[in-house]
Amino acid sequence: MNQVERKLDPGLYLVATPIGAARDITLRTLDILAGADVIAAEDTRSLRKLMDIHTIPLGERPLLAYHDHNGARMRPRLMAALQEGKSVVYASEAGTPMVADPGFDLARAAIAEAIPLISAPGPSAVITALTLSGLPTDRFLFAGFLPNTSSQRKSALAALADVPATLVFYESPKRIAAMLRDAASVLGGTRRAALARELTKKFEEVQRDTLEALAAEAATNPRKGEMVVLIDRADSVNINPEEIECMLQDALGQMSVRDAADTVSQALGLKRRQVYQMALKLAGDSAAAGKDTE
Ligand code: SAM
Repeated sequence: MNQVERKLDPGLYLVATPIGAARDITLRTLDILAGADVIAAEDTRSLRKLMDIHTIPLGERPLLAYHDHNGARMRPRLMAALQEGKSVVYASEAGTPMVADPGFDLARAAIAEAIPLISAPGPSAVITALTLSGLPTDRFLFAGFLPNTSSQRKSALAALADVPATLVFYESPKRIAAMLRDAASVLGGTRRAALARELTKKFEEVQRDTLEALAAEAATNPRKGEMVVLIDRADSVNINPEEIECMLQDALGQMSVRDAADTVSQALGLKRRQVYQMALKLAGDSAAAGKDTE
């Protein structure tokens, strides 16, 4: 590939890189890595290795480290290149930049200077784990890493207890047993959960069980590797039944019982079966009321 073919439009390109299997890189990310004027990476060694695997030559191009510890110093240099009309690609160590990874300040700086910001999507552990968890994917809340101390972790979990969505956390193998124990104690041991480990790698594993069982397993049989914890929403989310009825009445005025149950259960993040039973009853009551007044 020669220099002319390589030319990319100016701008900051955020590219996702594999979270395990090197072949999960996208063709577009390879094109961008091959064509950018300047390459910046959270971990230059791992990006270099990835480029070697995919036979992308670095050539004379600069490969610069940009991470949490040197961001303030390095950002002006990358911004200067962007302002000169160069194309700059940024990759975090693995997965998608800015998802529990650096890149946010750089992207904001580019936006502030009206520099084109381009994303080449690809792997991320959140989405990979979510699709394997067996838990509802209609709504999810990605909470990143929880605090390290148990008291702060418990407070953070308590704040999420009633969120009507699947909760997704990144966690280190060192803290996983304590995190699951705290989650079971704050959210209830019977909540369904999943622990997804070493995704897309040789020892990929997904455990699906209650929080209590996962916590017990992590305590007695500690595992290594990269991990994502996913927790189902509470069974009976604290939504006032009158609020559900009110929304159902409204929906039943415009659609069938089935559609009303779908709409309201999705809007409130509730189990469809429970809402469908309420909708049936409400529809039956109003049909009976209609007959009484005939
Ligand atoms: N930016 C990355 C992404 O898009 O997923 C996440 C970076 S964050 C610093 C690293 C954390 O992501 C790990 O501690 C782990 O919780 C999760 N993770 C990354 N790769 C993983 C994998 N292959 N399997 C399971 N979890 C992974």
